Amino acid sequence: MLRALLSLLSAALLAAALPAAAQAPAARPQFETRKVEGTDNVYVFRFLNTQSMFIVTGDGVIATDPIGYGRPQAVAAYIDEIRKITSEPIKYVIYSHHHFDHIAGGKPFKDAGATFVAHRNAKARLERLQDPNTVIPDETFDRSRTIRLGNTTLELTYLGLNHSDNSIVMRLPKEKIVFAVDFVPVGSLPGRAMIDSYPLEWEDSMKKLLAMDWERLIPGHPAAGDRLGTKKDAQDILDFLQYASAEVKVPAQAGKCWDTVENELKLPKYASWPGYEAGLQMVLRRYCGLWGRGT
Ligand SMILES: [Zn+2]
Repeated sequence: MLRALLSLLSAALLAAALPAAAQAPAARPQFETRKVEGTDNVYVFRFLNTQSMFIVTGDGVIATDPIGYGRPQAVAAYIDEIRKITSEPIKYVIYSHHHFDHIAGGKPFKDAGATFVAHRNAKARLERLQDPNTVIPDETFDRSRTIRLGNTTLELTYLGLNHSDNSIVMRLPKEKIVFAVDFVPVGSLPGRAMIDSYPLEWEDSMKKLLAMDWERLIPGHPAAGDRLGTKKDAQDILDFLQYASAEVKVPAQAGKCWDTVENELKLPKYASWPGYEAGLQMVLRRYCGLWGRGT
């Protein structure tokens, strides 16, 4: 008892003696909502390592990915966070693409009356999968669709195959902000994001994204320091895809896939990037699939 008291006391004294900056930073909260700087009504809701954009338009809320895979509490928190800001009805949920880590768990939004929108390939995929935790989209589009609600215009654009066959870009033209999930990792290497991707077409869609009018990019997984992405980040990912592709192509065409490439090839130019160690083998495997197999 005395020992516990003493150690508590000494910890308190130690904390008091240290300047604030030297103390351990407060633990990152499990979830949080931030208004995007310079906007009146655009928010990012983050739960652990996944995030979603929502917009309070004055005539209803446009929400995006429910981010509730294996964690219905994230969806409950998402709706609570919206409710702390506005009592406007949640009119839409827009899916960035069909992967469950982003879109599972939307039922509470459905129950609240939201209309679900996704690319038509996402709906086709979800209808086949019949995942019990994922709401099937109500409405789809092929190339583009514009949603106007309250004071907000939100453009949905399909740039072709990339990280999936149904990833879309959501663009706020007035704010020059885009929300793009998984096909533009901000400041980190795509690793698992490669597994079911279309690497060559991905490069094409990055060029189309770079040609669009925007300044800041909200990613689907937070970047270091929660910063938003820029066109430089998008260009960096395009450069990375082209580099990795070229590096694997030669040994792949010489018959070195899968094992030799996966076990021996390194991409030293990117060794300092977050996600390199964890993602390298997935990157090599995907490009072996492309250049060593034709897939
Ligand atoms: Zn994904």
